[in-house]
Amino acid sequence: MSDEAPSASHSIAEFVAGYENDRTLRGWRCGACGATTATWGLACSRCGASRLEEATLAGVGEIVAGTIVRVASDEFVNDAPYAYVVVQLDGGGRISGWMSGVQDDREIAPGRRVRFRASYKPGIQFEPLAEEE
Ligand SMILES: [Zn+2]
Repeated sequence: MSDEAPSASHSIAEFVAGYENDRTLRGWRCGACGATTATWGLACSRCGASRLEEATLAGVGEIVAGTIVRVASDEFVNDAPYAYVVVQLDGGGRISGWMSGVQDDREIAPGRRVRFRASYKPGIQFEPLAEEE
């Protein structure tokens, strides 16, 4: 047994740079089973294969869970109340992020459509998507 970390075609630094610098959400698609994930890893969480290919994830999806935060840390004090949300992206990948200025649970009800919003603020920020979009 080796103590060496398995090699990967991608790094967690590149993953973070994807949404902080390139304004895109990055993830991986399994070359064996096709599962798509937004979570950095060395192997597919569904089938265990290590042949993961970097993929650009859809910037839109729907909320599957969320909660409103009314007491914020200093960094987010001007955005409170805000919501912490889990979003199922179109085309695969489930990712957690946040939405500024959410007042009511109905704004983050499961099924509400949202889009990734590139921002200078930390984390992955989403905003509501209008019905017709
Ligand atoms: Zn797989």
